[in-house]
Amino acid sequence: MGSFKALQVSEDGQGHFASRIVERAIDELPAGEVLIRVRYSSLNYKDALSASGNRGVTRQYPHTPGIDAAGVVEASSVAELKAGDEVIVTGYDLGMNTAGGFGQYIRVPAAWVIKRPQGLSLRDSMILGTAGLTAALCVEKLERAGLEPGAAPVLVTGATGGVGSIAVALLARLGYTVAAMTGKAEQGELLRRLGASQIVERSVLQAGTEKALLKEQWGGAVDTVGGEILFNVVKSLQRGASVACCGLTAGTQFSASVLPFILRGVNLLGVDSVEIPLVEKASMWDKLSLQWRLPHLDELAEEIDLQQLPGAIERILAGQQVGRVLVRLD
Ligand code: NDP
Repeated sequence: MGSFKALQVSEDGQGHFASRIVERAIDELPAGEVLIRVRYSSLNYKDALSASGNRGVTRQYPHTPGIDAAGVVEASSVAELKAGDEVIVTGYDLGMNTAGGFGQYIRVPAAWVIKRPQGLSLRDSMILGTAGLTAALCVEKLERAGLEPGAAPVLVTGATGGVGSIAVALLARLGYTVAAMTGKAEQGELLRRLGASQIVERSVLQAGTEKALLKEQWGGAVDTVGGEILFNVVKSLQRGASVACCGLTAGTQFSASVLPFILRGVNLLGVDSVEIPLVEKASMWDKLSLQWRLPHLDELAEEIDLQQLPGAIERILAGQQVGRVLVRLD
C-alpha cells in the first residue's frame, strides 16, 4: 500500500516537542474497519495540547494529532459504509492516541464514522468541526433547560475562539440576544458581524471572585473558558437560568459557593462532544445542516495547509486564535 503525508509530533528526549511533515505508510495506521482519505481537518485547542506534549491528551509520541476529519471512504469492512462514501469523524480517540486528521489518511472503527449530511459539504463540516458540534450541543442543552429567544442576553465567553465564535453566530441565528465576552477588545467589530449585540471585556468577568453573588444579568451562557470566570458567570445568571460549561482555556479549577444555586436556582450544565453516542452526534450534524445551518460559513474560518499548521498551533496555545482554522489535506 502507498504512503501519505502527515504532521508528526515527536519528543526530543528532553521534554521538548516539535512538529514536522513526514511520509507515513498506510500500513502503519492502527487497525480499524474504515480507511478514510482525509480531505479536510480543523484545528481545535485540544490538538494544540496534543501537539505540545500534553500527556492528558496524548500518551505516546511520535503522534499525528487532529481530532476532526472529513473525507472519502477508501476501504471498509462493514456493510453500512462503502468506498466512495463521504464521511465525518470527530472525537472519540481520534487525534488523541489514534493517528488523527492531520494526516491524509486515517483508519478508525466504523462506530466513529458519520455519513456527511446532505446540507453540508466536507469543507463546511470541518469549518464547524468539533467546535461547531460543541457549540450546538451547548445551545441544545440550554434550550432543554428552558432557554428561549426573548430571554435576557445570552453570554458567550472566549467569544473569538473556535467554539465561542460559532456559539455567537448560532445563538444570533436562532434569535437570541448575544453578549460576547472577549480578551481581544480589537475584535469587537468581528463579534458584532457574527451577531453579538454587546461586547463584554474579559476583565469584567475576572473581577468580583470574592463575592458570593453578582448582579443578575444573563438569560443563559455558553462558557468555553472555565476557571474563575465560569463561576463568575454562574453568579451573574438570572434566576433559574443556566450556563453550559465546555472548556478550560482559563483553567480547570474554580472556587464555588452553593448560594447562586440555592438562592437563584441557577444550573451548571456540563457538555461533552467527544464520547457521546454516535447517534447523538449524527442528530446534531443533521440539525447543523438544516434548521440550524449557519449562513456565510466561509467567514468563520481561515484555510491553511499542513505546512502552516505549526504556526497556527502556536497561536491557539497563546489564546490568540480568532475564529476557526480549516486544514486542507491535499
Ligand atoms: P480556542 O483557542 O479557539 O478558543 C478559546 C478562546 O478562549 C480564545 O480564543 C480566547 O477568546 C479565550 N481564552 C484564551 N485563553 C484564555 C484565558 N487564559 N482566560 C480567558 N479566556 C481565554 O479554543 P476552542 O474553541 O477550540 O476550545 C475552547 C475550549 O473548549 C477549550 O478549552 C477546549 O478544550 C474546549 N472544548 C471542549 C469540548 C467538549 O467536548 N467539552 C469540545 C471542544 C472544545 P477571547 O480572546 O475572545 O476571550
